Amino acid sequence: MTCAELFRMGESSDSPVRVSLGANMPRIDLTGQRFGRLVTICATSERAVGGSILWRCRCDCGTNVNASCANLRRGAVASCGCLQRDWTKSGKANFKHGYAHSGAESSEFNIWCTMKARCFNPNSEKFPDYGGRGITVCERWLNSFENFLADMGPRPEGKTLDREQVNGNYEPGNCRWATPKEQRANQRPRSLAA
Ligand SMILES: [Zn+2]
Repeated sequence: MTCAELFRMGESSDSPVRVSLGANMPRIDLTGQRFGRLVTICATSERAVGGSILWRCRCDCGTNVNASCANLRRGAVASCGCLQRDWTKSGKANFKHGYAHSGAESSEFNIWCTMKARCFNPNSEKFPDYGGRGITVCERWLNSFENFLADMGPRPEGKTLDREQVNGNYEPGNCRWATPKEQRANQRPRSLAA
């Protein structure tokens, strides 16, 4: 079955498409899996720098892009690029709504932005401890600062965003506002195995 045929199947069905690619079957089959806004269609014959297989993906906005298996799996790529554009746009929109007042480094809006950067921006200093470990942001919060604020409420003085399960994602059931002391009591144990 050709890539184009697979693609048409993917379009006509809501359920993930899983088709054997036979001899061309990549080692890790990502067919039909969702990564943020991207759903993988099929493996291409191309490789990314470093050797990771490039996958043809369909973005929720309707654009097709290639993304490497490695980047998809570690959450570095989650859209055709429209996610970043929408974040920028929603950032501007939220400025108008009175959040992210200038100079307020610890505003809820800023926390929401850095949370996403830790999980999705490989250039973020904290990325290796978050996105690099597979920690992600739930879809409800990913695209909506309003949803994040509605679920978390305003940040109490002296508290920052904390995940109760250190290996859990940023999502309503796993997040709270906590003081630095409360967060230290909750850190992930280091170097349990050699
Ligand atoms: Zn897109």
